[in-house]
Order: sequence, then structure tokens, then C-alpha cells
Amino acid sequence: MDSLKQTVSDACRILAAHGVVEGILGHVSVRTSESELLVRTRGPRERGLSHTTAEDIRMVGLDGQGAELGEWRVPNELPIHTEVLRARPDVGAVVHAHPPALLVCGLAELPLRPVYGAYDIPGMRLAAGGVPVYPRAVLIRRRDLAQEMLASMGDRPVCLLRGHGLTVTGATVEEAVLRTLALEKLARVTIQLHQVGADVAAVSDEDQVELPDLGSAFNTDTQWRALLAELPEE
Ligand SMILES: [Zn+2]
Repeated sequence: MDSLKQTVSDACRILAAHGVVEGILGHVSVRTSESELLVRTRGPRERGLSHTTAEDIRMVGLDGQGAELGEWRVPNELPIHTEVLRARPDVGAVVHAHPPALLVCGLAELPLRPVYGAYDIPGMRLAAGGVPVYPRAVLIRRRDLAQEMLASMGDRPVCLLRGHGLTVTGATVEEAVLRTLALEKLARVTIQLHQVGADVAAVSDEDQVELPDLGSAFNTDTQWRALLAELPEE
């Protein structure tokens, strides 16, 4: 459990280092049993996500209660995590963030399309499969709002929350974080293309089929090690 807490803590710092979360907003969780999860909480000496430590990662039940909480508080938007974990047994981890480029794409209604291929194959595949949008800009602090978001999300691993942020799932914390970074990268490129007035066609079906799946050892494990290595020393 300690190493899983460290992974969730590392995930928060990686998201902060990449500008995907700012200040104290955003959280990461991972399922640990049928009824429990580890989640990024806020303690009495909160210093923002870039300074997350394993101490900030606490075990709670799907009801948001937990003996381990002490002075630490669960996020207001904990229902994003608990409702996704309740509804989607395939999901092992959830990232909720307010990535700035994705915010602009949502507000400006710039669709996230698979405009590049080999530049970032997992990112291209995410876009090709479709990025659903939850149209409400509300703080998702109740179960019914999280269930509305889930209805928008369908069976996709991601959901853009218009005027708010993003919810991303993965089988693992690493997968959910890498998907978050890939989507924000695509959002930055989408905005830049719009700014230069380029109307770029999606990668052709022929080229999409030709792009290989490089496997999770490369796409996840190696990428994660590189992200960890880039982190500033605490
Ligand atoms: Zn939020």
C-alpha cells in the first residue's frame, strides 16, 4: 500500500510539473478493493499538488469516510472518483484535473481530432475513439452530478467537462496520468492550429491502421520512468 500511495503522490507531482494541474486543484485516486480507494486529500499544511507527499494520499470508502483521514480532508469533488469506480469495474484509477488548454478547447468548441499520428500514437487513438463532453460547468460535489457526467462519458476512458476540466480513467494510475498528458498535448496543438488558421484533416484510416500498438511496456512503463526522472527533487 505504501508504494501505491507513493505512485499516487508521484502522479500529482507529474501533473503539476506539466501544468495540467495548478495550485491546490485536482486529484488522483486508485481503487484498492471493491469498496475502498486511495485518494489525494488536503492536509493541515497543504502546499499544492506540486508538493504532494505520500502522507497526502489516504484510504477512504466509496462513501468518503475513512479511519485514516485524521486532519486530512477528501476533495469536494470526491464523487467524480467514487461514482466512476462504482459504475466502471474496468477502471482502476481516476484523474480529475483542470488542464488549461483543454479548458479553452471546451469553451471554444474546438473538437479534439486525431490530427497527428506517429507524433503521439496513444494520444491519436484517444482522439480517434472520441472525447465526449459533459456540458455543465458545475462543481461535481454530489453523486447525482457525477452520474450525469458518467452518462456523458459512456464507455470512453475520458470526459471533457466544459467550463471546468477533465476526468480521465485508466487501468492503472500511470495509464490515467499518461492519457491526461496526451490529451492536454493534443489540446495545445489543436489551439495552435486554430490560431494559424489551419484546417487540418484527420490522419487517414490507412495511416491509422498502419500505426502500431507499441505495447504497455513502452507506452506506460518507460514513459512513466522518464516522467519520474524529470521531476524536480523535493
Ligand atoms: Zn474540478
